[in-house]
Amino acid sequence: MEIRQNLLNFLSTIPDNVKLVAVSKTKPIEDIQEAYDAGQRIMGENKVQDLVAKVELLPKDIDWHFIGHMQTNKVKFIAPFVKLIHGVDSLKLLKEINKQGAKNQRTIDCLLQFHIAQESSKFGLNMEEATTILNSDEFQGYNNLRIVGVMGMATYTDNEIQIRSEFSTLVNYFNTLKSSFFDTKEEFKEISMGMSGDYQIAIEEGSTMIRIGTKIFGNRNY
Ligand SMILES: *Cc1c(COP(=O)(O)O)cnc(C)c1O
Repeated sequence: MEIRQNLLNFLSTIPDNVKLVAVSKTKPIEDIQEAYDAGQRIMGENKVQDLVAKVELLPKDIDWHFIGHMQTNKVKFIAPFVKLIHGVDSLKLLKEINKQGAKNQRTIDCLLQFHIAQESSKFGLNMEEATTILNSDEFQGYNNLRIVGVMGMATYTDNEIQIRSEFSTLVNYFNTLKSSFFDTKEEFKEISMGMSGDYQIAIEEGSTMIRIGTKIFGNRNY
């Protein structure tokens, strides 16, 4: 019951146009089912193995988002069903996603992940790298994937000014890419930013998609 209440309370505080990805990583099937029964249809996982196991056991109309670091050799396991891959940060990975998309006769939606945090441990592209990828001949031939926007994680800090500035940087990247590469592509519209600790700032800065775990499912013990 607690998850249902958490979810409904949470949804009442966010604007209708912001999509909620309920981050169910490490959580058991029953918890995810409870969120589903309360109406939630978008779930996020960050480990391929866990995602594949959970898909089997839960309703088929869940949109599964992969939010973790995607390893090239694991794309094949989620390619048949994944709705959106958030963390795409190399041409090599795009190549594999396209290949697996073709194999499954699908077009797989992806977000380009940008490095916006000060911490060096987080994955992601800078603008120069993204531009190189998008200009490459190889990329032009990828017909079994679509880039539908950008994703980023802010520094884990109490400093609101810093978080705000990092999210604002991601929005600038989005706008620049939109006008340079995706002007005619309606599907390029998502800015995935904001987690339990910083989603309010993310929404104020223009997030279209927030990824929320703790605030819905409670603390994770790992
Ligand atoms: C775990 C995770 C989240 C959710 O984190 P919470 O702080 O629990 O809301 C969001 N995005 C990514 C990429 C994650 O790995």
